[in-house]
Amino acid sequence: MRHAWRGGIIACAALCGMASGQPRSAILPEQATQVSEHVHAIIGFPNIAIVVGTKATLVVDTGLGPRNGAIITRVAQKLAKGPVLYLATTHFHPEHAGGEGGFPPHTILVRNRVQQEEMRADGQIMLERFRGRSDEWRQLLDGVNPREPDVLFDREAKLDLGGVTATLTWFTGGHTRGDMMTFVEPDKTLISGDIVESKLVPTMLEGTSSVKGWLAILDEVEKLQPRFVVPDHGDLGDGSLVGKEKAFISDVRDAALALKKQGVSVDDAGKRVTETIKTKYSDWPNLANVPNVVRGVYAEY
Ligand SMILES: [Zn+2]
Repeated sequence: MRHAWRGGIIACAALCGMASGQPRSAILPEQATQVSEHVHAIIGFPNIAIVVGTKATLVVDTGLGPRNGAIITRVAQKLAKGPVLYLATTHFHPEHAGGEGGFPPHTILVRNRVQQEEMRADGQIMLERFRGRSDEWRQLLDGVNPREPDVLFDREAKLDLGGVTATLTWFTGGHTRGDMMTFVEPDKTLISGDIVESKLVPTMLEGTSSVKGWLAILDEVEKLQPRFVVPDHGDLGDGSLVGKEKAFISDVRDAALALKKQGVSVDDAGKRVTETIKTKYSDWPNLANVPNVVRGVYAEY
């Protein structure tokens, strides 16, 4: 399911976390809100999930650089009931994985194999691009050099945290090749990375993202029937976010495919699809990213 687009990687920073050309501050607040019985979230860039069991705590994502990792650690330590600390990352991009160095030495880093391979291949390039976005981001990522995980899994890792279980799964690639989804039971809370978000056009990166893969992941997580969703960017929501994400991508795909059949160029199709869906999705703030999704559709279908 890999597709050669026009080559090259567009840094996530060019597409997400940006407002009017300037990257937003990436310093996380030192507080969390409760999402469900065992799940808390720090709301920021990006959102960070903290799953608290009687034996162990799981943090999902690191924030941008070690300074944010240290902030998350302090929040997690206040919530923690047990001594063990797990850390997992939804994908290898620096605001999700680049803060690992701020966590304490006993932290058990868990990652899927595809994500780790992607980090080895593209991690340094992505770090350089993020460093170039602003002085703050450069300082936050100064000296960051990702380490190897303590636990490497292929498809699934189940963490028994004591009274609560987190299932970490790699289904296939969507936003990146190594996207990890986390499902927390008994809460039925889904920690969805960039795959399920609220009213945000999916960030499709040329060369690495996959429209088909994205939809395949959504099919899988829909079966879990989540009650709560903690996306990495934007507002938290309930289980209906999964269906809404699927509907949006399907709408863009269908509109793009109709134009492709008519022989419309990919650039024109990007503009026309954005125009077509503008009314239905008028409350989505980043419709300017629709042409990237159209480009993905043209490449894969
Ligand atoms: Zn990303």
